[in-house]
Amino acid sequence: MFKKILIANRGEIACRVIKSARKMGIATVAVYSDADRDAMHVAMADEAVHIGPAPASESYLVADKIIEACVSTGAEAVHPGYGFLSERASFCRDLEKKGIIFIGPKPRAIEAMGDKIESKRFAKEANVSTVPGYLGIIESAKEAVKIAGEVGYPVMIKASAGGGGKGMRIAWSEKEVKDGFDRARSEAKNSFGDDRVFIEKFIEEPRHIEIQVLADSHGHCIYLGERECSIQRRNQKVIEEAPSPFLDQETRRAMGEQSVALAKAVEYQSAGTVEFIVDKDRNFYFLEMNTRLQVEHPVTELITGVDLVEQMIRIAAGEKLKIAQKDVKLNGWAVESRLYAEDPYRGFLPSIGRLKRYRPPAEGVTDDVRVRNDTGVAEGSEITMFYDPMIAKLCTWAPDRAQAIDAMSTALDRFVVDGIEHNIPFLSALMQHPRWREGRLSTNFIADEYPDGFAPRGPDENETEVLVAAALATELVRKDRLDRHSDRLSPHSGKLQRNWVIKLDDDYHDVAVKSGTIAKPLELEIAVSGRAPVLVISEWQCGDMLWDGSVGARDVVIQIRPVLNGVGLSWNGLSVAARALPPRIADLDKLMPVKQPPDTSKMLLCPMPGLVVSIAVTEGQEIKAGETLAVVEAMKMENILRADRDLVVSVINAKPGDSLSVDAVIMEFE
Ligand code: ADP
Ligand code: ADP
Ligand code: MG
Repeated sequence: MFKKILIANRGEIACRVIKSARKMGIATVAVYSDADRDAMHVAMADEAVHIGPAPASESYLVADKIIEACVSTGAEAVHPGYGFLSERASFCRDLEKKGIIFIGPKPRAIEAMGDKIESKRFAKEANVSTVPGYLGIIESAKEAVKIAGEVGYPVMIKASAGGGGKGMRIAWSEKEVKDGFDRARSEAKNSFGDDRVFIEKFIEEPRHIEIQVLADSHGHCIYLGERECSIQRRNQKVIEEAPSPFLDQETRRAMGEQSVALAKAVEYQSAGTVEFIVDKDRNFYFLEMNTRLQVEHPVTELITGVDLVEQMIRIAAGEKLKIAQKDVKLNGWAVESRLYAEDPYRGFLPSIGRLKRYRPPAEGVTDDVRVRNDTGVAEGSEITMFYDPMIAKLCTWAPDRAQAIDAMSTALDRFVVDGIEHNIPFLSALMQHPRWREGRLSTNFIADEYPDGFAPRGPDENETEVLVAAALATELVRKDRLDRHSDRLSPHSGKLQRNWVIKLDDDYHDVAVKSGTIAKPLELEIAVSGRAPVLVISEWQCGDMLWDGSVGARDVVIQIRPVLNGVGLSWNGLSVAARALPPRIADLDKLMPVKQPPDTSKMLLCPMPGLVVSIAVTEGQEIKAGETLAVVEAMKMENILRADRDLVVSVINAKPGDSLSVDAVIMEFE
């Protein structure tokens, strides 16, 4: 076994690999860029080597720097994680030349599977069912139209070198192929440096189901069941689960056996994933093979009990696989949610900044439910625009699917993240979605169910009751604490005030307290808006971020944040500001003028998080509509911000090189 390995990655996956290595008694070396000096993976590893500036192209993607780091620290092997150098055959070859082992497949297998055209040819030869299509390189739009006609519409034009959900376009007609072909080629050239595209049948409303395989260097290969990843946004996975609610034993076995056949055909070793799309009739078609550890591998680990990273390390060290196919048992159900630093309410734009609060739910097993959170950040970490915006992978396991989903809902309710925008409200909404709960999925799920994007919603009647109860309960506990303060001049009588009005955002709800006590635990019987009384129980104390309690028959965990004159409540994907008012004050409150949001028409706001490249104007300058005001770089693109009318610049608040968050005021006008 190795004594020391290097992890050529960052973030959660670097931390994940370090955990298994440590468990096996292997020393670890992290690498880091300027942006990651204080990152969690650096702190976790036994040693760390600085490899350059923040952009990945100057650090994590530079093979020579990684190899140098191996040599200087004496690391015998490299785990590449996913992304970065994980599927670059030339990197494996360079390592090999230095006698360093790549913890992954051999370069030939990476090459064969890394190219979508090549891999489909291999798959066909190994008798794997592939998406009907044309496995040649298409040179002209004319040829593309002819081939698309033969394949049958709709078709997908795909970049052979594509990945990460990019480099694909659907064409429904001859015209769309004709118009889209050249663009598809030039996009492929720009994104992947390779303009080869091919055409395959577009399978309508498919499900994405993939098989995990594990193969050693002695010719043993097994499959560890499937993962379903149909919940995707723009072909990128958001929620994954294992097993799939759609597969029967027979289809599972057929897919598993074909995947093993393919792995054997390319003399695969290490962990790998064979991706399929599956149509309504459970016909399955090979998409591609990912020759690395997949982002969503934890759900497989949770239902099989196999540590995939440990197996990869053992296989790389030449050990024989000790698990036989008959030993693989799928136990229970696991769900994974990808937490992204992005704003679900603004078209999922990436969000950057410091994690002012980051408190994931406790990991481990309680009442038959396991919670696992794979993360690479901690409270105080900085989310930059240089890397993938994924901050954590939250997984839950339970004996069955419904329980695993409920556990995920609760775990999301408990997950506290402040300082950046994040997609927890969106993930919570998905967990509540009836179609997801029934398992009626397709890769169009998000597009079908959220055609106009994701918008904040208001609470329904039952949710209102829960929020009102929590708002009142926290207010009573807070008041009680104030009353007990020794410096208080006239202590309160201790009698519970019976009638309240709870203001949730702009709506007023009457509450009557029937009976109860606020001693710990608080126990109140309340009636909200004339509904039947319910019992409210909680041990919440001032300062707790989570209101853990029950309202009627419902157990809930609500996040509590102080806001002006009240509390902010977040739960179940909902966020409201709440105030508890005595009825007379509520009547007066209704007469208060409502504060209008600030007028931003005289400001230039930064439309997305980005870097100021240049400011084209000076203070006092007169500008005509259409002239450039500033240039901001975001997501590797330069965005020119122009005046939408004739203006006079009054104040400039930013300078070139500034890193701005969304809505930062770049300049103001007269
Ligand atoms: P698929 O390639 O089938 O979409 P995954 O969802 O596992 O499979 O990964 C998506 C892709 O996004 C990966 O191939 C990887 O290249 C890229 N990626 C995801 N996360 C990161 C990360 N933290 N760093 C670099 N690349 C990443
Ligand atoms: P990537 O390398 O970017 O992961 P894939 O070939 O794995 O590319 O495809 C990613 C996703 O795109 C799939 O999960 C599926 O949702 C969709 N997709 C790809 N090919 C097809 C197809 N022929 N028909 C329908 N959907 C497809
Ligand atoms: Mg894929």
